[in-house]
Amino acid sequence: MKFRESFDVVVVGGGHAGCEAALAAARMGARTALFTFNLDLIAQMSCNPAIGGIAKGHLVREIDALGGIMGEIADKTGIQFRLLNASRGPAVQAPRCQSDKARYRKEMRAKLHAQPHLLLLASEVVEILVEKGEVQGVGLADGSKVGAAAVVLTTGTFLNGLTHIGDQRSAAGRLGEAPSIRLARCLKEMGFRIGRLKTGTPPRLDGRTIDYSRFEEQKGDEKPTFFSFRTGAPSLPQVSCHLGYTGERVHQLLRANLQRSALYGGAIVGIGPRYCPSIEDKVVKFADRARHQIFLEPEGLDTDEVYLNGMSTSMPVEIQEEMVHAVPGLERARIVRPAYAIEYDFVDPTELEATLETRRIVRLFHAGQINGTTGYEEAAAQGLVAGINAGLRAQGREGVVFPRTESYIGILVDDLVTRGVDEPYRMFTSRSELRLLLRIDNADLRLTPLGHRLGLVADAEYAACLDKYELIGQIRRFMQLQRWDPAELALAHIEPASGKGQTLEQLLRHPGMTLGDFEPLLRKHGLWPTSAVRKSVEIEVHYQGYIEQQQREAEKMQRMSLRRIPADFDYAEISGLSREVKEKLARARPKDLATAARIPGITPAAVSILNIQLELRQKKARTES
Ligand code: FAD
Repeated sequence: MKFRESFDVVVVGGGHAGCEAALAAARMGARTALFTFNLDLIAQMSCNPAIGGIAKGHLVREIDALGGIMGEIADKTGIQFRLLNASRGPAVQAPRCQSDKARYRKEMRAKLHAQPHLLLLASEVVEILVEKGEVQGVGLADGSKVGAAAVVLTTGTFLNGLTHIGDQRSAAGRLGEAPSIRLARCLKEMGFRIGRLKTGTPPRLDGRTIDYSRFEEQKGDEKPTFFSFRTGAPSLPQVSCHLGYTGERVHQLLRANLQRSALYGGAIVGIGPRYCPSIEDKVVKFADRARHQIFLEPEGLDTDEVYLNGMSTSMPVEIQEEMVHAVPGLERARIVRPAYAIEYDFVDPTELEATLETRRIVRLFHAGQINGTTGYEEAAAQGLVAGINAGLRAQGREGVVFPRTESYIGILVDDLVTRGVDEPYRMFTSRSELRLLLRIDNADLRLTPLGHRLGLVADAEYAACLDKYELIGQIRRFMQLQRWDPAELALAHIEPASGKGQTLEQLLRHPGMTLGDFEPLLRKHGLWPTSAVRKSVEIEVHYQGYIEQQQREAEKMQRMSLRRIPADFDYAEISGLSREVKEKLARARPKDLATAARIPGITPAAVSILNIQLELRQKKARTES
């Protein structure tokens, strides 16, 4: 093939997945090109002006720990920070921030632009070039061809994108942007299994036309929790959001016009995100609720645009207007961008290896919404995995797999490639079997060493991570050895008679005790850490029993994943397995027992039979050799 130019890695798409993929590949030394429709819309937030949230915040912390970029840019452009679930256990606490959308795009683009080995190019990719089952590069809309050792597709909602506002439809990747039609056709012709999903977004309002006095103000946290382990303070002025409610007038209006909604009128065939329902969906499915929460979220510091969180809809514009005006405080509000729904193609993620490389085409990777996920964070996490592996494979090296015992990133990828999706996939902490091990405070312990080995984390950052865990170890050892002398340190919550002679760690386990109670003593021994490190120590001590239990569970899962299943394993031959189970296993072709156990419909009894058969097979192979 004759190429205009060649790269090690070509990334198609400049959304959240594409940015991470391109940056990771380039940081690992691969000559990388990122192709996208519009360079000004790199890292565009198609929907809400926010990063993080429950479980999504975990993903962003992990991206940061591994050497990705989303956390750093979110911190830099955050205009309100909140730690969600702050009053609940440490496993489910997660950071979230409101973002200044325009600044987020600008900062991300500047970061990518400054990255050596990385070129940002505005062009539509219309074809994946393949020879003998191996990717060769991409074809552009202008007819030219670009060579690549590895290609990462991150096309988001653009493949055959179709927007709906009431009965008005238009082919678009996002409102006002062209869809990706030829590339969608190319993927279909290559034999990929394609499905159809949908999502929607609420109207944006002119903030100057809102009566904020009818809403409850929501300020950010006084002491913000950031995504990046390196951020110390917010960069931008902080703002408030506002909370309000729909009421019977809104609900009546929606019920009376249901047939005009693209969703209920039957125009939309794709499946939508169950956890992010449209307002008409909420009114129908929760008919007994008198009201639903809505949030007014500012889209940035230099704009009056306000995101009406909770009112996603596919109703015609005139109904949207009536619906908005029926909300107390929004009687005069002007819609500056209408709500809309979008349907798009996705590629069945069970077509992928755990490195996100397709099984069909060597060195072709898929990441982000193309894999059936929803959300910026899920997209970014996959982009990072695909970018790392594309970089490695372009250099002729083996890819890396992220075990689900070590990160939410691993859980995300494992769920996608072993279970597939039948609705837009979003991350939840409940998807993890080991929530207490996968906390936001220890994401660096879990992932920074790997990020450093891959060349994504700088030496100084890695050293800071090692220092942090050395200090945690020192504090724990000190507290395990040191016994309490009430004459040396008074403790408000502990009676001297009952606590005297106990170790400091035993005392810290008492309800209400924090490391702060031991501050004078720790300071005296040069062991007084930052508040983040103090929190990590407290969690480790307070939850030690549960953490150890989950560590044993993780070891068991790891042992199961070491029980490899040969690619040619004949499930049909195994007696004791039902035909349905045999078919499922033969279709999914799991690489190990742990993966087999997670395939929907594979029972513990089937796993046990499979384990015995694998063991027998191994023994037989040993005696024959
Ligand atoms: P995107 O951010 O969509 O980026 C795709 C990129 O690919 C773009 O830069 C585009 O220009 C480029 N591209 C596409 N095709 C080509 C091509 N052929 N050649 C070159 N470049 C190409 N998420 C939620 O979590 N909750 C929600 O409520 C929600 N609502 C949404 C509502 C709408 C209307 C939309 C559009 C999205 C919504 N999302 C929502 C999804 C969220 O925007 C995505 O999950 C996220 O942006 C996906 O990131 P991505 O990188 O995979 O793709």
